[in-house]
Amino acid sequence: MCGIIGYVGKKEAAPIMLEGLRKLEYRGYDSAGMAVVSEGAMHLRKCAGRIESLAKLIEKTPPKGTAGVSHTRWATHGPPTDRNAHPHYDKSGRLALVHNGVIENYQTLREKLIAEGHAFHSDTDTEVLAHLIGKHYDASPLAHSPRRLIEAVRDGLKRVKGTYGIAVIHLDVPELIVGARLGSPLVVGLGHEENFISSDAAAVVAHTRDAIYLNDYDLVSLTPNKFEILSLDGSQAQFEVSQVDFTQDEAEMGIYPHFMLKEIFEQPESLKNAMRGRLSLDDGTAKLGGLNMTPREIRDIDRIVLSGCGTAMHAAMVGEYLIENMARIPTEVEIASEFRYRNMPLTKDTLLFVVSQSGETIDTLAAMREGQRKGHRVLGICNNVASTIARESDGGVYMHAGPEIGVAATKSFTSQVTVLTLLALLLGRMRNTSMSDGLKVIDDLQSLPDKVAEVLKMSERIKEISHKYVNAEGMLFLGRQYNYPAAMEGALKLKEISYIYASGHPSAELKHGIIALVKPDMPCVFIAPDDAVFEKNVSNIEEVKARRGPVIAVTTEGKTELEKVADDVIYIPECADYLTPILASVPLQLFAYHLAVARGCDVDKPRNLAKSVTVE
Ligand code: GLU
Repeated sequence: MCGIIGYVGKKEAAPIMLEGLRKLEYRGYDSAGMAVVSEGAMHLRKCAGRIESLAKLIEKTPPKGTAGVSHTRWATHGPPTDRNAHPHYDKSGRLALVHNGVIENYQTLREKLIAEGHAFHSDTDTEVLAHLIGKHYDASPLAHSPRRLIEAVRDGLKRVKGTYGIAVIHLDVPELIVGARLGSPLVVGLGHEENFISSDAAAVVAHTRDAIYLNDYDLVSLTPNKFEILSLDGSQAQFEVSQVDFTQDEAEMGIYPHFMLKEIFEQPESLKNAMRGRLSLDDGTAKLGGLNMTPREIRDIDRIVLSGCGTAMHAAMVGEYLIENMARIPTEVEIASEFRYRNMPLTKDTLLFVVSQSGETIDTLAAMREGQRKGHRVLGICNNVASTIARESDGGVYMHAGPEIGVAATKSFTSQVTVLTLLALLLGRMRNTSMSDGLKVIDDLQSLPDKVAEVLKMSERIKEISHKYVNAEGMLFLGRQYNYPAAMEGALKLKEISYIYASGHPSAELKHGIIALVKPDMPCVFIAPDDAVFEKNVSNIEEVKARRGPVIAVTTEGKTELEKVADDVIYIPECADYLTPILASVPLQLFAYHLAVARGCDVDKPRNLAKSVTVE
């Protein structure tokens, strides 16, 4: 969370950083700010609110200078106010710093610094970093030079416990940015007579596609014509220059009013991309070269643990059903934040999979590292090919879904489930799935993008239905088996963008407590496709109707009998049961989207949320 962009070059820094911040706004949007340095003066502009508030401030009094650092915040410590917006100054007011992460020992550091005469002007944990680094800078015997700032950053960070991606500038060395990372992503963009530092390549892709993704403990210094990457311990760091794999257009909304809608409509394409080159008709299986495992090693897996957070965790839950049904391998889902602290007993041949769109989710990253520490192979399913999970995992499968900017995950969910279906197919074909059954799965998968396109055609109809429920007090989402996680995902979509309370449950759980909530302004959304538990779902729908609860049912084309019991019916094309969570999720994404827009909510930037959760 939180976006950083720094610029050093020959052009005016402020407009470049402002444009970059707009690209990073999905990462946090409760306040924003920038510090621009020019010969002899540091210009600070910061305020609570969205990037546009900062833009107005900058328009009124443009900060002049060709180097600077900027930030869009997702507050962890201290409310989203002007004074808590980044950048923060050191004691001298000559050093400015932006930060993504959490400084866990900030209280102790702050008290110590106050005792030494430092005055603090914000409630953030971040401000101690500025003071600490400034203190080391001021105490340094070195002359004003890049080296002096680099050393001060290094010395300051040695005292810090927690996570950070930082960018620092100093008035004494106006053509220099120093950055460092531990736990929060940072990428360096290399331009011609200009260099960038950013939380995400999306903010620099308009200027350059040459990027270096920093690793933990890297310390970088940037001038217009030079960069140097060292390790925090002073040794040379390993790095490589890679090409950003998406274009400026992909990171823009085009004809759509919101990124979320654009991304929902991209699903036929993103699903094709998830499968491209991975289906083998010759063997009736999936080819997933990135797993980096021999057939023998795959055969030896005796248990699988899938871990993720939020939407990725729901995709993992579908994966559990898929892998157990197709491959008969005992599979469990662990919420990443729990896994990292709970010391789960794992058998020697347990394979761990971590699922994260951004590949930067801190809890998922920590779960991966905990698994690796225990000597397990940990594979990743992520979208961002340059992410930390992609780099540190022992292999994995990319989703190839293209950038997902809307804070509410949509196409990443369906791509994750598709990748997990490929995985289940591969594992199944090495165990008990026959060639003909494998070919049937391939056939089903190949028809999926067109079926999703069919569902998307119903957007207007789903909009009409959703408008009937804009004033609902809450909503329950219910489904069984593969569609239990899909119900949880449907509920998550609704609550995160419309702020209507919603929760997802297995349909049969209704009678064990949840049915107490059913009433006329508490609609129930049932995912009840034509599968082995269709009749059971119908009985549960009847139970809700008997208690005057409105019902919206998502079912398979042809199951018109549901029109007699449900208030509204949304049809999805006929498909294999294991693909229903993908097809059923699409109308629920549209339902949440239209309903939230009708309620006047900012669907791309929902309250209190941000994408790419890089803080604990
Ligand atoms: N902890 C810092 C703050 O609250 C940075 C938060 C972030 O990474 O978004 O200001």
